[in-house]
Amino acid sequence: MDQHMTIEGTGIAPGQAAGPLARLRVATSRSTAAGPDLAAARAQVAQQLEQFAQGAFDATHAAMVRAQRAMLLDPEWWDAIGARIADGTPAATAVGETGSAFAAQLAALDDEYLAARAEDVREVARLWVRALSGATTSAPPAGAVVATDRLAVSDLLAGSRAAAYIVHEGSATMHAALIAHNLAIPVVVVSESSPLDAVPEGTLVHVDGDRGRVTVGAGTPAGQRRAPIRQGPVSWSDGRVIEVRANIGSAQEARAAAEHGADGVGLFRTELFFEALGRIPSRQDQIDEYQAAVRAAGGPTCFRTFDLGADKPLAGLTPEAEENPALGQRGMRLYASHESVFLDQLTALIAAAAAGPVEIMFPMVSTLADWRYCRDALAALATSHPPVAVGVMVEVPSLLFLIPELAQAGVEFLSFGTNDLTQYLNAVDRGQGRRAGSVSPLAVARAVAHAADQARAHHVRLAVCGSLAAEPGWATLFAALGVDELSVPAPRIPVVKAALASAAPSATDLLNALDTHDDQQFLALLHHP
Ligand code: PEP
Ligand code: MG
Repeated sequence: MDQHMTIEGTGIAPGQAAGPLARLRVATSRSTAAGPDLAAARAQVAQQLEQFAQGAFDATHAAMVRAQRAMLLDPEWWDAIGARIADGTPAATAVGETGSAFAAQLAALDDEYLAARAEDVREVARLWVRALSGATTSAPPAGAVVATDRLAVSDLLAGSRAAAYIVHEGSATMHAALIAHNLAIPVVVVSESSPLDAVPEGTLVHVDGDRGRVTVGAGTPAGQRRAPIRQGPVSWSDGRVIEVRANIGSAQEARAAAEHGADGVGLFRTELFFEALGRIPSRQDQIDEYQAAVRAAGGPTCFRTFDLGADKPLAGLTPEAEENPALGQRGMRLYASHESVFLDQLTALIAAAAAGPVEIMFPMVSTLADWRYCRDALAALATSHPPVAVGVMVEVPSLLFLIPELAQAGVEFLSFGTNDLTQYLNAVDRGQGRRAGSVSPLAVARAVAHAADQARAHHVRLAVCGSLAAEPGWATLFAALGVDELSVPAPRIPVVKAALASAAPSATDLLNALDTHDDQQFLALLHHP
């Protein structure tokens, strides 16, 4: 075998790592699955998922795993299994078949978010079938590059930590991939016909989740080298300092972010705190959580008011069914109809400012009237409290053309949500974008460049908190465009700081990339200037 073989695939969680190859094996201790075991196996999986939720890396993970637990306990699923068993189907087969049928129904809805939930149903079914058969998965050795069919949340959160995963199927928006991203575990999907199956276990393998590449053999790069933790903002060539802050969903993550050298928090997704509790938190719950985050953050803490709706439903707050949820009642569009929840949250955020510097921004603002509504609600409450900086997320393209008016109306900072901006600018579901090939990265870059010009002219501070900020090439381009702050998952902070601090890529080369006339050419310059 070629000692330095490269296998091309698709990266679904970024980063680079190397380690000895290990294959995940399932060991079966008994093969029959009798009917009476069904409830016991379900209880065992429910308990396992609850343990994963409690040991979850952050509030996002906890919410995801609890959603899987809720699927497991769904009475409709239980009844469907019961009906099959009554027809003579063995329990494990009934669980597998009904799980596949539910997953297929979700996947058929032609919605990337729901398709990713279909993956969750399949995973829960697999766990249940595994519990029924008494099978256990052998834990991979810590630091190994694990080859398996598909990434499972349970494998990521259980036991020892793998260095990277190579799988045969999956997408960047499935929950397991999002968790891998937050844990800084790169994941690459390679085809089943790739030569990886012939590679002996123990062979050193390098996984590049940024480029979607696996390198096998002795000459692999030293992937386990980690970027050093840097404290303090990075100096930029024009004399500015660029802050690299953290995206978090709980006070607990603020502590982890400070340990990664965060210059504060650039995005506290407060809806994740709501979702982790499974209800609207009381004002006091919120004051406690927000103050704890501010104390732990090691810098200013930017809270985004709750962005529920679309792919983040919450019973009692978001509509049951909408034709186009991503274009419907989401983010600040819910505030007027749930004003007491909004005002409670603002009151808690104002109280949090007693613990340290606080910034507040609003999601899904698309008109000047939206901004004025949020601004005035806060101003009415905030009269006799420490000042908080106030801004908006730029994620709806209409705002790109309203920056002078927003500045005039008191917006102090703009934070680009590139996940939604990409979705709405290209009219492609945010989960499908790159895969569907219908996204123009050049158009996204030019949108940010246009807004950056406007923001500079009107003295509005600029940040980027969407996923693109965590990619070194994009992060450097944003800095070159005049962005003052990048906010990324905590494990990416050292990587982004290292990219900004290095001499290459040069700002001039990156700005020239905006003048290319082709997306592929633009991306090639961005990633290999
Ligand atoms: C974004 O849209 O880029 C963003 C940061 O917000 P979220 O991913 O929570 O929608
Ligand atoms: Mg968004």
